[in-house]
Amino acid sequence: MKRNYSIEELRALDQKHFLHPTSPVKTENGPAFIFTEGKGVYLYDITGKKVIDGMSSLWNVNIGHGRTELGEVAKEQMDKLAFSSCFATFSNEPAILLAEKLAGLAPGDLSTTFFTSGGSESNDSAYKLARHYWILKGEVSRKKIISRSKSYHGVAIGATSATGLKAFRDFTNSNAPDFLYVDHFSTKALRDLIETEGPETIAAFITEPVQGAGGVHVAPENYFKEIREICDEYGILMITDEVITGFGRTGKFFAMEHYNVVPDMMCFAKGVTSGYAQLGGVMISEKIHREFSELSVGTILHGYTYSGHPMACAVGLKNIEIIEKENLVANSAARGQELLEGLKALQAKYPFIVNARGLGLMAGLEVFSEGSLLAPQIVLEAAKVGLICRAVVLDGQDVVVFSPPLSISQAELKDLLNLLDKAIQEVENKITATTL
Ligand code: PMP
Repeated sequence: MKRNYSIEELRALDQKHFLHPTSPVKTENGPAFIFTEGKGVYLYDITGKKVIDGMSSLWNVNIGHGRTELGEVAKEQMDKLAFSSCFATFSNEPAILLAEKLAGLAPGDLSTTFFTSGGSESNDSAYKLARHYWILKGEVSRKKIISRSKSYHGVAIGATSATGLKAFRDFTNSNAPDFLYVDHFSTKALRDLIETEGPETIAAFITEPVQGAGGVHVAPENYFKEIREICDEYGILMITDEVITGFGRTGKFFAMEHYNVVPDMMCFAKGVTSGYAQLGGVMISEKIHREFSELSVGTILHGYTYSGHPMACAVGLKNIEIIEKENLVANSAARGQELLEGLKALQAKYPFIVNARGLGLMAGLEVFSEGSLLAPQIVLEAAKVGLICRAVVLDGQDVVVFSPPLSISQAELKDLLNLLDKAIQEVENKITATTL
């Protein structure tokens, strides 16, 4: 029987029974928001407060909230076939059709998909498939995975070990062996590291096209072309992590299209279903797939119960249909331009904003104040006035990041920027008050 709980009861139960992901363990009054409903770019909480979801929740609700078509597709699929295995020689129609659809959308010859339930699993799968590839090729010493400083690849043991943001690795003090890191913008550092370690020991290089959780860092113009060349020169596999950047987030369907670079493997999750179901995957090139088919004598001994989940894949197909029909990739590019211009205008207005950057609807506002972090204060004030955004303070940074739904209208984007201006004004007022 469903009982009606008061807001206070829910807050208390949350504090007692719910250990939140990537959150403070202790909060004074329980959760800041208990969300109950979403519509378009807006979220509503249990007190009736309406906020703009300036983060698409976790960079993932690309089509916006409340699209009932996805629920309809999910129900239809669950009523028909809620689950069946994709192990051994079993398959299902939505998984096959989504894999085919992705092959048509992905850059170059990335045409085969290994499905997972999210980004971390996708990353771990990519590292394992890369190492397996080298075993098949007879180069068993190629085990090391190189990643970039300020990168975030998830929280499974492999994904955490590949994460450049050290605090995530230090949390458990148990890095997996054979993970190495290079400065996030220096191609020379990568070349030097490969030379020092020996190219015959390196399996793959992994990179986000735009670093997200690490503070929205857009790479220099020729960075990825040079990375591709270095990987080719030393025979190293290039893996891109498009978990945030995929499915229109940066104004292209996949962000690597901005750079005309095709990786050997590509991880995706989040935007593939806009968060309406748990799904991710790794796409592999035709060449790698061919090597697997021709050289493998046994079985791919790597698979999740939910790899190729029929309901999640059906939701993914419908989500992609919406992104295409409603031209959300083009909207992301156009609104992204306006978002960046708006942030630059705020930079011109407030002396403590030192940088505004972004690509498509993925943006960061870097702030600086001697002796105190401003981004968390801005995020707090923004929430008060009705805007959800996020602070990145790891690695000595102080950045507010944004990633609104790709469906955001021009008017809604203006609202977002106005609310942000109000929040920043509040923080400036406080700074002025304390320095007077
Ligand atoms: N890679 C990137 C680039 C991410 O941003 C994230 C999640 N924010 C992940 C991987 C991990 O995805 P998940 O939380 O779905 O495991």
